[in-house]
Formats: sequence, C-alpha cells, structure tokens
Amino acid sequence: MAKIFCVANQKGGVGKTTTAVNLAAGLAQLDQRVLLVDLDPQGNATMGAGINKAELTSSVYEVLLGLADIQGARKNSESGRFDVLPANRELAGAEVEMVELDNREKRLKDAIAAVDAEYDFVLIDCPPALSMLTLNGLCAAHGVIIPMQCEYYALEGLSDLVNTIKKVHAKLNTDLKIIGLLRVMFDPRMTLSQQVSAQLEQHFGDKVFKTIIPRNVRLAEAPSYGMPGVTFDPASKGAQAYIAFGAEMVQRIQSL
Ligand code: ATP
Ligand code: MG
Repeated sequence: MAKIFCVANQKGGVGKTTTAVNLAAGLAQLDQRVLLVDLDPQGNATMGAGINKAELTSSVYEVLLGLADIQGARKNSESGRFDVLPANRELAGAEVEMVELDNREKRLKDAIAAVDAEYDFVLIDCPPALSMLTLNGLCAAHGVIIPMQCEYYALEGLSDLVNTIKKVHAKLNTDLKIIGLLRVMFDPRMTLSQQVSAQLEQHFGDKVFKTIIPRNVRLAEAPSYGMPGVTFDPASKGAQAYIAFGAEMVQRIQSL
C-alpha cells in the first residue's frame, strides 16, 4: 500500500510544486515507486515533470469526474523516473462540476485506490486555495507536507491550513496528519530567515523537517527544460537538499 501525501499551502508561490516534483524525483532515485498527482489547473507539476499539458487526451479532470480510468490517464515522466497523473486548465471546471456528484470530496481517494498497490509513494501537488480540489487531496492522503518560506508573513494563514486539516481529520479522514513543515527557498544570510526558522522549531518541534531547502536558481531553471531540478543538475545544492529530503521522508514513514 502506498503512503499518500499532499503538498499543501493555500499561499501562492511558496514552493509546493517545486517540492512535489523534486521529492518525487528524489524518492525515485532511492528506488521508490512514485505517482505524482497534479491537482492544480495551472498544470505546473505536469510541465515540470516533462509532460506537455497541452497534449493530454485525458487528465486528472476526467478521472475525478469518472470519465476516464486513472490507469489510462497517467503518464510516465522520463526525466524524473516516476508516474504522473497530469492536469491542465480543464481541471478548473471540476470544482463546479463535482458539486452535483455523490461523495464529491472522496473522488480522488477512490481513484487512487485502483493503483495504490503499484506505488510506494503518491504525492499530490495541491493548488493555492482551500478548495474542493484541495479537499479531495486531503481526503485521499495519510499526511500533509507544508512547504514554507521563512519570512515575516509565513505564519499568517498557517492557522487556517492547520484548522482545515483538523476539520478534515475529524469529519472526513481520520488518517490525516501533518507530517511536517518544510523550510524552502531558505537564505541563511538573512537574519529574518534564521529568526523565523527558529520560531517554527520552537512552535512545532519535531513537526519541522530537519532538511532545509535553500534558495537555488537551478531549481527555478529546471522546469523550463521539463525536468525536476534533482535530475537537471544533480550536483546543485537544491537537488542535493531534495534528495536528502527524500531520504528523510523514507525514514519518517517507518514511524507512521
Ligand atoms: P502556486 O501556489 O502558484 O502553485 P507553488 O507554491 O507551487 O506556487 P512553486 O511554483 O514551486 O510554488 O515556486 C514558486 C516560484 O519559486 C517558481 O518560480 C519556482 O521556480 C521558484 N522556487 C521554488 N523553490 C525554489 C528554490 N528553492 N530556490 C529558488 N527558486 C525556487
Ligand atoms: Mg504550484
């Protein structure tokens, strides 16, 4: 049975997709079988894994609406050595169209159940909103990985996410827990980064991952080549950090 994790934070541009794609590639390098689910109509995880979102015949959208099987809709990321359930702009319509469906917050969970046995990890890249799509991610998952930038406003909004996770845990998915907060785009030269990082450790203790992802331009360049940073420039600091994070995740799931 795969361990299923959402990468979520309703703030935009905090590094969710970069984390999902590079953790997928990092885990693949550790010989883990990984499915990356793109749950964002922006389709950034799809493109970052080297799959052209403009050329999809079926995607997570059709899977959520019951119009396609997950087995037929998934693709393989050659550059990352993992599978992808891709997304494109069509997915934006799913929010509204799912309103009429039974069990609408569990559509993704049911879809993943059909391929669960083929993977060690399923990673879900959530959109920057606490929407029906994110709710589907949270209902499908065993845990949430929350990427955060260590800046002044980082903690603002975190309580909304934590409260949402608590509600989902209470009402819809008792398996769900916060696996950890991941410090990303970290700049050790900034005093503020150090301060916020220390504050996170104080408040959240061992819920803060040990691995810290530095700000690294190679991670930002990689998507334009359709490659995860981890395979685009394996020697870069960013790639090394995500590989270390993959190892930390493999270790963490032993105790779940
Ligand atoms: P959205 O909320 O729009 O889905 P996101 O949370 O998925 O955004 P990303 O797309 O991963 O965030 O990252 C936002 C931007 O920051 C991108 O341009 C990405 O390349 C860049 N970025 C992410 N992580 C790093 C890093 N560690 N170092 C340098 N640039 C980074
Ligand atoms: Mg994203």
